Amino acid sequence: MPPQRDIGLYIHVPLCRQRCHFCAFYLEIATPARIEAFLSALARELTLYHQQNVLAGRALRSIYFGGGTPTVIPSLQLAALLDRIRNTYSVTPDVEVTIEAHPSTVTRQDLRVLAEAGFNRISLGAESMAPQDFIPIGRPGTVSDTEQAVQDARTAGFSNINLDLMYGLPGQSLASWTATLHSLLALDPTHISCYALTIEDHTKLAQDIAKGLVPAPDETLQIEMETATESVLASAGFTRYEISNYARPGYACRHNLLYWTDGDYLGLGPSAQSYIAGSRFGNIANLDAYAGQLQNDHLPVADRRMLTHEEQRRDALIFGLRLLKGVPNNLAIEDAGQRDILAQLTERGLIVNEHDRITLTPLGCRFADSVASELF
Ligand code: SF4
Repeated sequence: MPPQRDIGLYIHVPLCRQRCHFCAFYLEIATPARIEAFLSALARELTLYHQQNVLAGRALRSIYFGGGTPTVIPSLQLAALLDRIRNTYSVTPDVEVTIEAHPSTVTRQDLRVLAEAGFNRISLGAESMAPQDFIPIGRPGTVSDTEQAVQDARTAGFSNINLDLMYGLPGQSLASWTATLHSLLALDPTHISCYALTIEDHTKLAQDIAKGLVPAPDETLQIEMETATESVLASAGFTRYEISNYARPGYACRHNLLYWTDGDYLGLGPSAQSYIAGSRFGNIANLDAYAGQLQNDHLPVADRRMLTHEEQRRDALIFGLRLLKGVPNNLAIEDAGQRDILAQLTERGLIVNEHDRITLTPLGCRFADSVASELF
């Protein structure tokens, strides 16, 4: 019998205290009533999947609470939810359990409750360590909230701490970005995610840029920031293992690796996406509609598709190329045409095709999506 593929569980909490100016995700503003509506529907979804034996006895190797801002839910309710998951599904003894948190939404006591409940990895949205960067992007909270949350998380027992950053923020210079990186390193995280700011349509930030109130991102500067990031973090002992992710040895995010290595995951909550045994499916992106389906004992799936072999190969390539270790080259080469394209991409300095693997060059990392799409 072939070995069981790893599987993870993703819980999507589509609730935040307020909407940041750059954010285009589906979400609602958290109120006690919306939190309650979400939690009771989610409990029903957990039970329905269990009754339908979707995981077929497989044990979860990772559980990830993302959002939104999961920590707008009171910590005791998050602990009860994790307990419910553990009582519903099998989990491996070394399961990685991550919670995303906005630094200003967690107290020392909350973090203690979460650590005691079994959350063993925390991902804090720092975004920047320069207070002036928060204003144009409408990010609530302060830099000292981040510093305090890291300290409190560590005291509570979290030894695996990720900090998220964004670069290319309006008004941010290369010098202030490198200062942010150094301030962040002083907090001694195990993992750092760095995302370039992108401007999404219909956001307040897009409107402010269109009105000339805020400068648009400067692509050349973003590239310089990306180069600086790799060098500063490498000097501090971090390995860039994915285009936007850096970790100390042994601290790559197990759950996110599932996405990049063609692994299986079940996503619960409004707008959550799943991929199990070649089937991709996604939930309705609306809390009321999601809850309504579950009240009638229907899974709240809006679209479902069994991928063909070709589509699975394409997705494994698109996601796998994001990893700095790349993908086996037999994922990309099935005929002479693809061999030619690979040769052209190599000549243009976008990929390296060696030792039966394809990896992106530093230049290729900047154009990862278009490199992958040229291959198909
Ligand atoms: S905290 Fe995250 S999910 Fe919530 S509005 Fe801000 S960027 Fe969007």
